[in-house]
Amino acid sequence: MALTRADAEALDAADPLAGFRDRFEIGEGPIYVDGNSLGRPPAVTRERLQALHDDWASRLVAGWSDWIELPLAVGTLLAEGALGARAGEVLVCDSVTVNLFKLATAALDANAGAVVTDRDNFPTDRYVLAGVAERAGREYVEVDAATPEAVRGVASDVALVSFSQVAYRSGALADLPAVTEAAHDRGALVLWDLSHSAGAVEVGLGGAGADLAVGCTYKYLDGGPGAPAFLFVREDLQETLRSPIQGWFGQRDQFAMGPAYDPEPGIARWLAGTPPIAGLVAVQAGAELVAEAGIARIAEKARALTAHAIELHDAWLEPLGFTLVTPREPARRGSHVALCHPQAWRVCRALIEHAGVLPDFREPDVVRFGFSPLDTRFADVFVALDRTRALVERGEHLERDEARRRVT
Ligand SMILES: *Cc1c(COP(=O)(O)O)cnc(C)c1O
Repeated sequence: MALTRADAEALDAADPLAGFRDRFEIGEGPIYVDGNSLGRPPAVTRERLQALHDDWASRLVAGWSDWIELPLAVGTLLAEGALGARAGEVLVCDSVTVNLFKLATAALDANAGAVVTDRDNFPTDRYVLAGVAERAGREYVEVDAATPEAVRGVASDVALVSFSQVAYRSGALADLPAVTEAAHDRGALVLWDLSHSAGAVEVGLGGAGADLAVGCTYKYLDGGPGAPAFLFVREDLQETLRSPIQGWFGQRDQFAMGPAYDPEPGIARWLAGTPPIAGLVAVQAGAELVAEAGIARIAEKARALTAHAIELHDAWLEPLGFTLVTPREPARRGSHVALCHPQAWRVCRALIEHAGVLPDFREPDVVRFGFSPLDTRFADVFVALDRTRALVERGEHLERDEARRRVT
């Protein structure tokens, strides 16, 4: 049992990734346990954005001859450094929401049957998938869990299965290879949302034979607020699927400005319009840090940080009315820990306003503690849970207001 601050500090002293914390800009702020919503800024990002500003000022439109390479170049960095995919299979562009729409629509154009997701999937995923199914006149099915058994149990023919690899609320990690296999056995394509797993756990898209994927870069990949998302299309599917957005950045020989849409044969056909270069430059900086640290070491630290939090929860918080929502088996969870409490909102507000701890709240009763393996210390986990214990013991959360904020 590691239940003292000295134990946590000993874990930090033995952590091979401890030095990466100095690569981020970290001020005097709170104990940050919400890196799963927005990662911290890498120090180098400030220089890269400044350099882009200089480049823009001096080269003006001529800068595009280099900038135009970024969606694919940064995609390759992510493919090889974080996703277990190959160069030419990943692009950085648009938002997760828009990429989901593009890939799900393309999958339904190519394949007959229902759209399957799970009830607890992230809202934008459920909304987009339901909308895409409706537009295509297909059945939309929400199963109970992101498991191979659930996929096998769907009564109708299935065109597309789409789950998150790590569930945004519970932190449960789906069995990506087994679900992919079950989807393929049903004759379906599979579309993974990696928003809560990219940069935190080993994704292994290639090894699993996954078809399609999307994900965020502003969470564990530290690309900054609103940084563009990524998409993955397995190489052999790139020419058979078509983007529903026939944009000029996906056009073969784009600057010939030809009369009709004729998409690029490869991954580039999934681009739509002009890419957001400042965002791409920031994603590149974050993705380089992940690649340098190595995703296997990052995933190992994620399992250790969450194990530490679970141990402290069991000792301190369970007796105070908390319940662990996240799976206990290390191979079945991502890098955040979700705790249920009847007063979760007030606990969260008290932590933020009075205890110098910044977690987040998810409806209806979950406090999430997210640990970004490159910059979270075991001592941060210790302090965050220790302060949670102290304030609930004293009943300080009961003094907070029940009213929700616009952003929780
Ligand atoms: C964060 C997150 C998103 C966000 O999508 P945006 O289009 O970037 O707003 C989508 N899906 C999942 C699973 C997420 O965790």
